[in-house]
Amino acid sequence: MLEDNNSFIYFDHAATTSPLQEVVSLYAEVSTKYFANSSSAHRLGVENSRLLSKARNDILKSFRLSNHDVIFTSGATEANNLALKGYMERYHTRGKHLIISSIEHPSVLNAANHLANLGYEVSIVPVRADGKVYLDDLKKEIKEDTILVSIMGVNNETGIIQNIPEIASFIKKFPTISLHVDAVQAVGKVELPYNDIDLITISLHKIGGLKGTGILLKRKNIELTPVLDGGGQENGYRSGTNDLAMAVSDAVAIKEALKDVASKREAMKTLVEPFYNYLLSRNDEIVINSTLDNPYIINISFLHKKASVFAEFLSNNNIMVSTHSACSSKLDIGSPTLTAMGKDPILVKNAMRFSFSTKNKKEEIDRLIEVFEFGLKEIRG
Ligand code: PMP
Repeated sequence: MLEDNNSFIYFDHAATTSPLQEVVSLYAEVSTKYFANSSSAHRLGVENSRLLSKARNDILKSFRLSNHDVIFTSGATEANNLALKGYMERYHTRGKHLIISSIEHPSVLNAANHLANLGYEVSIVPVRADGKVYLDDLKKEIKEDTILVSIMGVNNETGIIQNIPEIASFIKKFPTISLHVDAVQAVGKVELPYNDIDLITISLHKIGGLKGTGILLKRKNIELTPVLDGGGQENGYRSGTNDLAMAVSDAVAIKEALKDVASKREAMKTLVEPFYNYLLSRNDEIVINSTLDNPYIINISFLHKKASVFAEFLSNNNIMVSTHSACSSKLDIGSPTLTAMGKDPILVKNAMRFSFSTKNKKEEIDRLIEVFEFGLKEIRG
């Protein structure tokens, strides 16, 4: 064991981030001061309703959107379910065919499975060895009755960026097909053509916001059949008493995340590059499953070691990483994304994800390299 370092180093930001202090304070303040129900007709309710509208407008402004509406949800899982189920049910008379990619988050994949069980037709467009959906492959899946295509912006396990600008301009040519993008790992990290996407899923706890909150941005001219029936809040799309404090906190986290995206990414590249180069130099031990195009997530596979043992070693040295995404880590199936990329099962089973944020410091990367090298030497099999 290396010498003890009391404070921990956190490289698991794709699983969740620590909330911004400003967001936490604002939540406490607004939920105390503006506790009234924003649907109430009295003066307090009306004031809260006004503040809720302002939060929606602030969010749309941060995304530079004018033709979309904000639907607040309990997280990206709910937003993805609403997008897929709500859209397919609403427009099933136009067509019953949905296309998703082979590397979608379980909240998209399992919502699609649910729809398939109800009689909808689901096609899965594969990714190639580089983890990307190619337009030629997507084109082959389009049919007369296709009405929705759902492709994630950035993969949560590998960080691979999809070519959403190209996919969006292709889908635009079909007036009866809409595009949904799970943008959870993209928001604030890579630029997306938000205005060209019909349905956009966001999770706040990945960008310095709170847990249990997400958003579905919906193009105004699209309707959805609600998943939750109730009092008709969120224009009838998502019933349940509004959480004004959450909406206001969301707006602050989003504004912060969408600031200086390109320059933050360049700074991240500079920060992460020494670790990436170090990994390249250890190609006797490691395969890299990511590229520096997205420096926020670097995924590797061990050739000769168990990733779970290595992760425990890192954790014991106060470095927190994931062996794969938190959503599949309880299942001992290895990484579904790496499987979809056609990787060898040994590499799939022994994958590790490092996910960084602008909060990480150079000294933390130096420490990671030091501990990692020690681990490669010390840990057997
Ligand atoms: N989509 C992606 C790409 C994700 O990474 C996650 C979080 N693991 C989700 C959806 C689900 O987000 P939430 O925790 O807000 O439900």
